[in-house]
Amino acid sequence: MSDAVTQEGVAAWLHSYAQAVAENCAYLTDLDAAIGDADHGSNMDRGMQAVVGRLEGLGEPGGAGEPERAAAGDVGALLKAVGMTLVSTVGGAAGPLYGTLFLDMGRAAGGAEELTVAQWAAVLEAGVKGVQARGKAELGDKTMIDALMPAAEALRAAASSGLALADALQGAAGAAEQGMKATIPLVARKGRASYLGERSAGHQDPGATSSWLLMQAAAEALASGAPADRPGT
Ligand code: ADP
Ligand code: MG
Repeated sequence: MSDAVTQEGVAAWLHSYAQAVAENCAYLTDLDAAIGDADHGSNMDRGMQAVVGRLEGLGEPGGAGEPERAAAGDVGALLKAVGMTLVSTVGGAAGPLYGTLFLDMGRAAGGAEELTVAQWAAVLEAGVKGVQARGKAELGDKTMIDALMPAAEALRAAASSGLALADALQGAAGAAEQGMKATIPLVARKGRASYLGERSAGHQDPGATSSWLLMQAAAEALASGAPADRPGT
């Protein structure tokens, strides 16, 4: 366990998320079948499989001397590469939105190799702001914002009270879960589900669900980057 976010941690997070999306592909698609067009699971799974392909050789333990590791370390560069991969592979509404999340997180992370909890909270916040700027959704519109925004806020609050990374990420995942569940009674005001009007109420939003899985994967894996593996630290 590490208290800094590293490229290894981010890679572990993405692997964990890809697995969660694969396992929940049918579930996400069923949610989208109720209020959309039944493609959210397959969209996200295609994108995350492509991301995993790009991660080859990154974030694996050991392997000292591999060429990939020599170039490795830059958190922002990895996040941006993920964003571009998602934009070009996911499609639908979710592709550009998740792509923007990672691209803007990458921009905010800059060339840093290790980020504190507070810095990581700011990075997530920048990504969520990017999604909002792109999709124009507010809290309560029954979108992924309903899970992402409370998660970013919880992370910032945890950082200012000095929580360790793993605990802060747990708190963020819990906030995302609450936000996801809170979408059930809502009437959608953005995206395809909004075409249904009142009939969108009573269903959990698929994008909020994939965003909760993303925050849950962070709680499970993001703190596993190991800067302490380096000699002398
Ligand atoms: P599509 O709606 O094009 O089929 P997906 O099914 O992959 O795309 O993704 C649907 C999800 O995208 C929704 O459940 C919602 O969370 C999210 N979404 C749609 N429009 C917006 C928006 N404007 N802002 C934020 N999230 C949105
Ligand atoms: Mg869809």
